Amino acid sequence: MQAEGKANSIDFAALKGKPIVAFKSWGKHLLICLPNFTIKVHLMLFGSWLINSRKELPARLSLQFKKGEINFYACSVDRIDGSLNEIYDWSEDVMSNNWDSQNAIKKLNHCPGTMVCDALLNQHIFSGVGNIIRNEALFRTHIHPASLVGKIPLNKLEELVKETVNYSRQFYIWRKAGVLKSQWLVYNKDTCHKDKTRIVSQILGKTRRRCFYCSGCQKLYS
Ligand SMILES: [Zn+2]
Repeated sequence: MQAEGKANSIDFAALKGKPIVAFKSWGKHLLICLPNFTIKVHLMLFGSWLINSRKELPARLSLQFKKGEINFYACSVDRIDGSLNEIYDWSEDVMSNNWDSQNAIKKLNHCPGTMVCDALLNQHIFSGVGNIIRNEALFRTHIHPASLVGKIPLNKLEELVKETVNYSRQFYIWRKAGVLKSQWLVYNKDTCHKDKTRIVSQILGKTRRRCFYCSGCQKLYS
C-alpha cells in the first residue's frame, strides 16, 4: 500500500508497504486496521469517500493499492494506538450484531433528567444515530423530543430503543436503494400526514440540533 494526503495526524511514510488487516466500524467511525495501529475516519457533516475515483480537491487521506485506491475528503482522520476492543464498546453500535438493547435502557435510566432528543444523539448509548434517525424514531413512537427520559414509561422507552435500531437498519437499506427521503414522515416535513397538523421545526436540547415533531401526534412526558 502507498498512502498520501493532507491529514497531519498521519505519518504517511509509516504506511508504505503495510497491509490493511481489517475494516471495522463503530457508529460513524470507519476504522482501517493496520498491523500496529488503526486509522479512524469520521465523515463529519460534509465528508465523502471515493473508490477508484478522485475529486479535484486534495484528499485528506488517499490509500493506493496494486489494484485500485480509496480517497477520503473533508473528513477527520486520526491515528489510534492500542486495542480497539479496549477503546470501543461494540454493544453501543446500533448496527452491530453485538448491539445490546438492555444496556441502552440501563444507560437511559442513569440520565432521567436528560431530554430524549439529546439522549438519542449520545453516541455512547446509540452509536451511529444521527438527526434524521432520532426525529423519525420519535415520531414513529409518538414521543415528543423535549420529553424527559425519566418521565417516559418503561414500555415506551423500550419501544423507542427498538424503533431506533429498526429505523437505523432500514436507513441503511433505503439509502443504498436511493429511496431514503421518500420514507421520511417528519424530518424536513411541513405537515403531519396523519392529522394534518403543522410540523414544528425547533432547536431543542443541549445538543442544539434541529428537531421536527407533530404536537398532535407526539406526547410530551415532562
Ligand atoms: Zn400528527
